[in-house]
Amino acid sequence: MAADGTAAALEQIESLRFSHEVRLLGEIRRRFGAIPLMDFDASERMLDRRKRDLLGDAVRITEDLLPDVHAVYRTCLKRAGGALLGDLFVQQSPSYNASVFAHDRRFDILVHSALLRDFAPDELHFVFGHELGHVLFRHNAIPVREILAGTEGLPAEAARLLLSWSRAAEISADRIGLLCCGALSAAAGALFKTASGLPGIDTSRVLSSFRRQYDALEKQIHKDADGESWRRTHPMIPIRFKAMELAALDIIALACGSAGFSKRGFQGVDRQISTILSALETVEAA
Ligand SMILES: [Zn+2]
Repeated sequence: MAADGTAAALEQIESLRFSHEVRLLGEIRRRFGAIPLMDFDASERMLDRRKRDLLGDAVRITEDLLPDVHAVYRTCLKRAGGALLGDLFVQQSPSYNASVFAHDRRFDILVHSALLRDFAPDELHFVFGHELGHVLFRHNAIPVREILAGTEGLPAEAARLLLSWSRAAEISADRIGLLCCGALSAAAGALFKTASGLPGIDTSRVLSSFRRQYDALEKQIHKDADGESWRRTHPMIPIRFKAMELAALDIIALACGSAGFSKRGFQGVDRQISTILSALETVEAA
C-alpha cells in the first residue's frame, strides 16, 4: 500500500479530492470569507461534547471487544495516511448508517449495529474509509446542516452553494472509501445495502442494477424540471456509484502503488462527473 503516514501520502490523498469540490470551496471562500466557517474553539468543544455523549450512550469498539471489526478499522486508518486520531463507536439501530464528527485531526466515528452485522469486511472498509475521507479533507470546517438550521434569512443562492459543495464533498469522501476497500464491487455493495436495506444480493446483479438505474435516472432528470430533491446534502446514490465507477481504475492503481494512476486522466474523469452534477443543478435552478 502506497498511502502510509507520510507527507507524500497526504499529498496523494489530496490529489483524489473531486476537483468540482475544489472549485466550490473557492466560491464558498468568496461568498462567506475564510474557511473554516466555524470557530476553532467552538468546534473543539463540540467534539468533546460529542465524545462525552458517545461514551455515555454508545459502545466503544476496541480490539478486545470486536477484533475483526477493529482490524478493518486499523487497516483503514493506515491506508488513510495514519495521521488521524479517533475512536469507533457502535449504537443499536436497524438502519444502515455511519457518521463522523471531527475537529482538526481528531474524530469519532459512529456506526449503527445493523451495518456491522450485515456488511462484509470489504464493505466495512468502504464505510470506514468514507468517514475518514471527511476527516482528511476537513469537511467539518463547513458544517452545512448547522448553518442551514441556524442562519435565518440565508439567501437561497448561498444555501444552494453550500448544498452543492456538500454533495461534491460526498464524492471526494467516497474516493477514500474506494482507496480503503480497493474494489468497486465492495464500494457498490456498501452503497447498495445502504440504499435498499437488502443484504445478500449477488455482486454482478448489484453492479448491473446500478448501471441501469443511473441511465434511467439521467433520462428522468432531463424530463423532470422539479428540483426539490436537490435540497439534499448527499448526491443521489446512482450518481455516487457512477462517479466511483468512472474513477475506480485510477484509485485502485493508486492504492496498489502501481504506475497506472494518471493525474491528467483523473482530471478527465472529474470533468465528466462535474458535468453530470452541473446538469442536475442547472435543472434545479430552472
Ligand atoms: Zn459522507
